[in-house]
Amino acid sequence: MAEEPKETKPGFQNPVAGFGVTFKAMFKKRLTEQYPEQKKTTAPRFHGRHQLNRHPDGLEKCIGCELCAWACPADAIYVEGADNTDEERYSPGERYGRVYQINYARCILCGLCIEACPTRALTMTNEFELADSSRANLIYTKEQLLAGLDEGMVDTPHAIFPGMDEQDYYRGLVTEAAPGTVRQAAVSKGEKPQEEPQEEEVEA
Ligand code: SF4
Ligand code: SF4
Repeated sequence: MAEEPKETKPGFQNPVAGFGVTFKAMFKKRLTEQYPEQKKTTAPRFHGRHQLNRHPDGLEKCIGCELCAWACPADAIYVEGADNTDEERYSPGERYGRVYQINYARCILCGLCIEACPTRALTMTNEFELADSSRANLIYTKEQLLAGLDEGMVDTPHAIFPGMDEQDYYRGLVTEAAPGTVRQAAVSKGEKPQEEPQEEEVEA
């Protein structure tokens, strides 16, 4: 025996049923986050903006090897290495990262670059507010990515800790800048070496 067709609601009731859904949602707990007034704390291992780290005396950990750039699937990193000299030293070893850029219009914050870095120069912070209205502003330079100076650090360029070599830095033997360490002139960036202060002429 054939089943009898079920009774359907009259057509005019369907829009009213739709409002029923809206009405029920009005009494549900709201999920709206009051951003940016109230910022949510990120997970400890959140992948946010990158940071170029320093040794405890302020010298830079980046050696300009470009491994991070090669590991990046989005081609978001640009690195140019250069040689340190005794007059202008940025890292304890032979080479340093002269140019370092990350393009956040490309970066997918996957973290492959920080895994590839052999010196732990590159890590990621919890900062996630990277939006901007200009593509140019989304290209972060080395100056923007470089970590700030903690106590006991001197800004680069400056001399290596006396009596220490590159390996000693990675063994943790350097814990702060040597007494009397001063910033050298960044001649490669157009700065002029500071002239020795001349003794004031004594008036007769
Ligand atoms: S986080 Fe991923 S996409 Fe972003 S720069 Fe690093 S490797 Fe490239
Ligand atoms: S951040 Fe690390 S991987 Fe990238 S160039 Fe510097 S040392 Fe090499």
